[in-house]
Amino acid sequence: MDLSNFDKRPAHNDFRSDTFTTPTASMIKSLVISSLGDAVYNEDDSTNQLEAKVAKLAGKESGLYCVSGTLSNQIAVRVNLFQPPYSILCDYRGHIYADEAGGLSTLSQAMIQPIHPKNGKYLTLEDDIIPNVIPDDGDIHLAPTKLISLENTLHGMIFPIDEIEKISKFCRENEIRLHLDGARLWNAHVETGVSIEKYCSYFDSVSLCLSKSLGAPIGSVLVSDSKFIKKANHFKKQNGGGIRQSGILAVMASTAIDENLPLLKNSHVKAKELGKLCQDNNIPLLYPVDTNFVFVDFEKAGISDELFNKYGDKYNIKVHGNRISFHYQISDESFENVKRALLDTWEDAKKNPAERSNQPSKFYSL
Ligand SMILES: *Cc1c(COP(=O)(O)O)cnc(C)c1O
Repeated sequence: MDLSNFDKRPAHNDFRSDTFTTPTASMIKSLVISSLGDAVYNEDDSTNQLEAKVAKLAGKESGLYCVSGTLSNQIAVRVNLFQPPYSILCDYRGHIYADEAGGLSTLSQAMIQPIHPKNGKYLTLEDDIIPNVIPDDGDIHLAPTKLISLENTLHGMIFPIDEIEKISKFCRENEIRLHLDGARLWNAHVETGVSIEKYCSYFDSVSLCLSKSLGAPIGSVLVSDSKFIKKANHFKKQNGGGIRQSGILAVMASTAIDENLPLLKNSHVKAKELGKLCQDNNIPLLYPVDTNFVFVDFEKAGISDELFNKYGDKYNIKVHGNRISFHYQISDESFENVKRALLDTWEDAKKNPAERSNQPSKFYSL
């Protein structure tokens, strides 16, 4: 396989998620400089260096390399919480709630408060948090809110920093922990220019994915203070997440941060161009296109998954439901093809609209 030519990469036409990228030649070359120690015993230099690198970027004391964002989110929640009964408040679309196999209930024994933000985009302190927070005021019927989890980006949308600041202040004044699922915080950072460190300064713990937009083959890093990370490592091991010679994965992830972070911007430019094309052609969108996702409102447009798949096949692109994902390995040719496939789908749907389903719309935050 010619790894230097993006057009020949398996992911060049894959719009299903930003996880479908394949490791680059330089990631694979970096394997030869990897240390080979046992990370479970803290003896692997490459893993330690990756953890320190991401912690430094985030302005936190320590980092913990985890096999997945699900693991780093779930163990972060456990470390943030102490003794049930308690509740976790988050957006109803949050990955931590909607896409982690019910882990909040089973692993942390928490009641969940999944909130529909009034503005349809992101939680605000005034409209969504203050009216819903359950106080720890001695009422024995309640499960007080002890943790709020935000997600940035969420469905590609950027969480405004001013609102994060307000929520963070409120949490600190009310002894509520604040976690960030920053699987795609890289995208928010690249788009807004706000540093990763600044974003992270408002949170007690942050999970950053390496395998999403950045394209590392495996992993996430959880960052927080050293005491927190020590305990998180305990839960990581309990959940079967200890990896031995993880250096080979860590160096690939480190290379992905160095080389691919600057490339994210281009996938945002492409996604926005497709968003604009939708607007110009009256194709309804579900969400504003802030970063690398275009969510088409299939319900409103009368488009079925099957119809879009049909035109996807015709133009040799891979699609998955109503979320069109961009990553740095999408080729120019596939970009043109996704436009054609969507326009053809729309023309067809206008003539033969799909029946509106009674099913709740699906969330794609894989
Ligand atoms: C993918 C994702 C995760 C979990 O990452 P995995 O490595 O797939 O477990 C967490 N949060 C968000 C927002 C994600 O998109």
